[in-house]
Amino acid sequence: MAGFHVRSVLVTGSNRGIGLELIKRFIGKSNPPEVIFATCRDPEGVRAQELKNLASKHPNVVILQLVSGMEPNCAHNQSCILCPEATDSASIKSAAKKAEAHLGGTGLNLLINNAGVMPPSTLESATPEDMLSVYNTNVVGPLLVTQAFLPLLKKAAQGSSQKGLSCSKAAIVNISTVLGSIEKTPETFSFVPVVSYRCSKAALNMLTKCQSMGYKQDGILCTALHPGWVKTELGNFQPNVQADLTVDESVSGLMKVICDLSEKHHGVLVSWEGNTLPW
Ligand code: NDP
Repeated sequence: MAGFHVRSVLVTGSNRGIGLELIKRFIGKSNPPEVIFATCRDPEGVRAQELKNLASKHPNVVILQLVSGMEPNCAHNQSCILCPEATDSASIKSAAKKAEAHLGGTGLNLLINNAGVMPPSTLESATPEDMLSVYNTNVVGPLLVTQAFLPLLKKAAQGSSQKGLSCSKAAIVNISTVLGSIEKTPETFSFVPVVSYRCSKAALNMLTKCQSMGYKQDGILCTALHPGWVKTELGNFQPNVQADLTVDESVSGLMKVICDLSEKHHGVLVSWEGNTLPW
C-alpha cells in the first residue's frame, strides 16, 4: 500500500457512513491525495457537520454539493413515475465544473460512486415510486456522475505513464453489494427484504460491466465493490439485528482492495476482502 498514490479522488455520499470513512482514510494516508473531493447533497446541513470539520482542518478536502437521486421532498415523488427532474443532473454538472476548475488542468484519478439508499421493500409492498426512486439514486446517479466526470478521468489516464489499469491512474469504483448478485440471492433473500434495492444494485452491476466495456480503451479501470454488511444507517436496517462489520473494518478492507485493483478486476464485483463475487 505504501507505493500507491492517488493524486485526486472523489467520493459521493461522503457526509456519513462508508463514504465519510473513505474520506478519513484518504486524509490519513502517508501520501494523501492532493485533492479529495467529498460530495454530499446538503453541505450546509447538520448531517454534513463532521465532514465540514474535517475540511476545515485539511485543505486538500474540497466539499462539493451533489445530489445523485431524488430529493426527499421532490413534489414529483407521488405524482410522476418517470420524472426526468427527479435526478438532479444540474448539481452533478455543476460539481464537475467546480472540480475541473480546482484541478487546474490535471485529471481525476479515482471516482467512487458510493451514495445509495436501501428502503424496506418486499414483493408485496414494492410500488412504482419505490422501485423508480431507488433506481434513480442507485443507478441513474452513478451513471450521470460518471458521465459528468468522464472527461476528467480520461485526462488522468492520458496524463499517466503507468501501464495497465489501476486506481492511481484512472478508475471508476461503484459501491455495490452482494445483495445485487442474482447468483447469491437465494442465500439472503428471506432475511433481507429489500427488493427495490436488490434490483437497483443488480442494475448497477450491469452498469459497471458496460462501463468496463466502454472505457477500457480509455485506460479507465471499472470495478464494483461489495463493502460487506456494515454498521451504518443503511446497514442497520433491522432494529434488533446487528450488521457484521464496523465501518472501520469494512473501509480498512476496501482501502486495501482499492490499492490492489488491477486489470484482472476490470468489470468484476469484488468483496471488501478482495474476493471476486459472482454477478
Ligand atoms: P449510509 O446510509 O450511512 O450513507 C448513505 C450516503 O448516501 C449518505 O451520505 C447519504 O446522504 C447519501 N445519499 C443517499 N441518497 C442520496 C442522493 N440521492 N444523493 C446524494 N447522496 C445521497 O449508507 P452506507 O454508508 O452504508 O452506504 C454507502 C454505500 O454502500 C451505498 O451505496 C450502499 O448501497 C453500499 N452498501 C452498504 C452496505 C452496508 O451494510 N452498510 C452493504 C452493501 C453495500 P444524506 O446524509 O444526505 O442522506
